[in-house]
Amino acid sequence: MTIVVLGAGAVGTATAWYLRKAGHAVVLVERQTEAAMETSWGNGGVIHASEVEPWSQPGMPMKIIKWLGKENAPLLLRFGAIPHMLRWGIEFARNCTPQKFRENAKSNLHLALHSLKSLQEIGAETGINYDRATRGVLKIYRSEESLDGAERSTAFLARHGLLYERVGAERCVELEPALKSTASTLAGALYFARDEVGDCNKFTQGLAAACAARGVQCRFGEVVQKVETSGGCVQAVITDKGRIAADAVVVAMGSFTAPLLSKNSIRVPIYPVKGVSITFARADWDTAPSLPVIDDSKLFGLVPIGDRMRISGSAEITGYDTTPAAARAEAIIGNASFTFPEMRRHFDLSNSRVWAGLRPVSPSGTPIIGETRIRGLWINAGHGHLGWTLSCGSGRLIADLIDGRDPGIPVPAPQGVVASRGA
Ligand SMILES: Cc1cc2nc3c(=O)[nH]c(=O)nc-3n(C[C@H](O)[C@H](O)[C@H](O)COP(=O)(O)OP(=O)(O)OC[C@H]3O[C@@H](n4cnc5c(N)ncnc54)[C@H](O)[C@@H]3O)c2cc1C
Repeated sequence: MTIVVLGAGAVGTATAWYLRKAGHAVVLVERQTEAAMETSWGNGGVIHASEVEPWSQPGMPMKIIKWLGKENAPLLLRFGAIPHMLRWGIEFARNCTPQKFRENAKSNLHLALHSLKSLQEIGAETGINYDRATRGVLKIYRSEESLDGAERSTAFLARHGLLYERVGAERCVELEPALKSTASTLAGALYFARDEVGDCNKFTQGLAAACAARGVQCRFGEVVQKVETSGGCVQAVITDKGRIAADAVVVAMGSFTAPLLSKNSIRVPIYPVKGVSITFARADWDTAPSLPVIDDSKLFGLVPIGDRMRISGSAEITGYDTTPAAARAEAIIGNASFTFPEMRRHFDLSNSRVWAGLRPVSPSGTPIIGETRIRGLWINAGHGHLGWTLSCGSGRLIADLIDGRDPGIPVPAPQGVVASRGA
């Protein structure tokens, strides 16, 4: 079959890789001149099965309403965005029951573990250098109450394969000495030894090159305009450079999947949630953390990626704009320097890259993977805050579904837009 994959972010590129491996003729179309230049460029870099809980969780709708209009809110819903995402918001609220939350977290966990294994296999096969680090991730908490709450939730996931260890403040400092000066503010942490770190942009670009070397036709700098269908079947993709005939099409355009498929009268419940990251050279900060640290109360992650440090956080619902809001970036930098006071002496904003990307979030917090009601038109999108973590597993999963193979893991719930075939 000739299969056209739309979007060369982490998800689309992994999809192209597995489809090519399965023997298909694959065309990968991307509007940027290289792979992974949008949301897959500057994410937090963490491959974390530990973070699989969706944002649609019990109590969240009330919190979002309480935070409305507050610039420093953990999840800021801007008034201007509300009219465009009402239906999505209602579906999000429906997913906030304890039962749905647990089901969705479990579904993400299965895919995250499958994905980690797939990523490791690709790494071994291709030798891509993506600044991989395998020391695990430390999630720190400042109150016993929040630590107990997080542990209760994590213990549920541990029954389904997540590995974790609860540690006290002293052990936090043993694991990450950069926490020494603020250890007295810590109640403890959850340590996830199996989580990894890597540069998503580097990996995806390496994978795109490996795809091209194995015969995938990579068409970069080409804008997808429309998917052409006839008689309920997919026919071709129309771009600004012409028409590409297809037996099947996989749309992996992250947040832009929804506007594209609305032209085919398919409503895809994915909405962009903007996040911010700040990347700077580790340079002479010899005491910088070497372990990725996620600070639960201050809501940021500080992650060493190769010779750089990256701080990320913020969630802002404000449409498709990708300008990083200065106030949100400053808040992240302020929070990171509270936890790591030494950072102030080594951080220089003018030498840092402040970036924002759009997390493609579905109401359930699980990705949408499957075939639409148009035969041959597939979706692999909506990976939210977990797209790097879930990318390789999702690429493998959709290739299995397209070929009718048993993927060996449960398929995420269809969320109306894709058929539950293969689930
Ligand atoms: C601040 C921040 C921190 C994050 N941290 C983490 C983390 O630590 N771990 C983790 O797992 N995830 C993290 N994420 C989430 C992760 O980055 C995303 O889920 C992931 O990058 C989504 O990948 P994607 O391939 O679906 O989308 P994208 O990377 O956005 O790829 C979609 C591609 O489609 C292309 N495209 C769009 N429209 C068109 C068109 N018309 N024609 C042609 N091409 C088009 C785009 O150019 C783009 O390359 C974070 C996100 C943010 C914003």
